Amino acid sequence: MSPDILLRIRNLLVDKGILDNEILDKFVLKIKLYSKGKWLYPGTFKRHLGVSSQVIYNALNLLNKDGILDTYYEVYCPKCAKTSGEVYNTISEIPEEVYCEICNKDIVAIDSTIMIYKVVDDGNEE
Ligand SMILES: [Zn+2]
Repeated sequence: MSPDILLRIRNLLVDKGILDNEILDKFVLKIKLYSKGKWLYPGTFKRHLGVSSQVIYNALNLLNKDGILDTYYEVYCPKCAKTSGEVYNTISEIPEEVYCEICNKDIVAIDSTIMIYKVVDDGNEE
């Protein structure tokens, strides 16, 4: 992420008051490492910042609205937590069942879907 976009992210989050200052600094330092095309998992941020999922989703959704991140869906196995490796851009693209090769089981996809994000604008020129 470029310094320009990091400043934009900081201002957006300060504006909405979603993260307190200390957490916000950590958030900015973490998201700085992501460049265009990289996948961003809310769980990683949640663990790193020690805040609730709701707070992280609020922050990331704000960046989604601003065109910095795009949202996707990923299906994971509830038993072994392995993801299928497929991502879906909309809910309607998600199949009913996804097969877990580790557990040799079909997963009911809609029950085991998480929202993930992809960086679409990192402020750097192509
Ligand atoms: Zn599994």
